[in-house]
Amino acid sequence: MTEPARDGQMTQRGPYPAIRGSAPASVVALSHGDVRARLSDYLDGGLAEGEAQDIREHLDRCHDCRAFLATLGRTIELLRTMPAPTVLPAAKERAREGAARPCMLD
Ligand SMILES: [Zn+2]
Repeated sequence: MTEPARDGQMTQRGPYPAIRGSAPASVVALSHGDVRARLSDYLDGGLAEGEAQDIREHLDRCHDCRAFLATLGRTIELLRTMPAPTVLPAAKERAREGAARPCMLD
């Protein structure tokens, strides 16, 4: 998503939708996009301590990224509570038949 930056130029904000509102310019040592791209690893404890500290410092000062983190956390929680998908036996059989068929490109 592209949107005007404070200086009037267009800027890329990563693969995530922009959140309404804006954070103070002092927060942008790590960009919002950089922070949001790492939040899943942050929640999983998969970041090096220095990197996690950078994220925490950004989150302390950035309401938008805290809101994004809260939404991400709720989404992950919902996904964890969903039942595992079931595959009907007939669908499994069709998949096996398709895999056994010779490929037309060979
Ligand atoms: Zn931010």
